[in-house]
Amino acid sequence: MSENRGLFTTDKARDYLAFEPEMSVDKLSERLWTISDGVYRTIFLEGNEGVIAFDTFGTPGKARAYARAIDKTIPHKAIATIIYSHDHLDHAGFAEDLAPNAEIIADEICAKVIKLRQAEGQRQPTNVISGPENHLTVDGVDLVLLNPGPTHGSGNLTAWFAPEKLLFSSDTIFANARYGLLPDIHLANFVKFMRGFLRLDWDTFVPGRYEVTDRERFEKGCDFIEAVQEACQQAFVEFVPIWAYEPMQGYVANKLKDRFGDLDGFEEHIGLTAIRIVHHYLMGGWSLEDTPTPGYILADEVQL
Ligand SMILES: [Zn+2]
Repeated sequence: MSENRGLFTTDKARDYLAFEPEMSVDKLSERLWTISDGVYRTIFLEGNEGVIAFDTFGTPGKARAYARAIDKTIPHKAIATIIYSHDHLDHAGFAEDLAPNAEIIADEICAKVIKLRQAEGQRQPTNVISGPENHLTVDGVDLVLLNPGPTHGSGNLTAWFAPEKLLFSSDTIFANARYGLLPDIHLANFVKFMRGFLRLDWDTFVPGRYEVTDRERFEKGCDFIEAVQEACQQAFVEFVPIWAYEPMQGYVANKLKDRFGDLDGFEEHIGLTAIRIVHHYLMGGWSLEDTPTPGYILADEVQL
């Protein structure tokens, strides 16, 4: 197959991988734009010499469409830096197709997972950072990259832009209820870490999917996840068959519909979300990554 294929093994994936969607670009400030393929979303910035792109989108075709949209927006400057928001292929899997020579910044845990994963098209980070708070200047742009601990995926970096009063955090909080199965969300500390970002001064929130939103709807997103967590715990007490979709969907939807029924996607997604969350309490979470210090997992096992 001519396309980089991530972890796909079948040649039949080619049409999916090659598809190049229409991208929509919105300017957020003099130097910062957001871009979406209709579902996924990220940001990019203009540096002195080149472009700083967060993430790559999730297929070779989308990465090419992302590169073209950047080139149209900021002509004559190449993508010199890519920052991975987290390790997941649907966000950061195809730097090879976006900008094969760009420097890549990522969190240490993200870099270690990518090294072991060896997905085709997902380039290894070249500049690895670690710890909860990193201040760097890249190509004249001051960046604040934050990782308070495990939230979603491995080594998830949130970016705070104080001059724009803007926060970008991928695959964490949305302004709707479209969470589905919450794969690889580390629920033990998720809401606590996400609420921690409210200590910073920002008004605009750019999520990794769906529309750009604001502080109020970010807070409601935190409230929503917390409320699903509470309802799921209550389901144990009331002996709801927690392993079955329909009883959980009915139970949790009924408990939360007055407060959160207005969130887009509530009816269709609340059942899956509840099934995932209930298993957090049943089984104890997502292994060591559901503790505040997931770095222990790979500390002595993977050398970058
Ligand atoms: Zn993700």
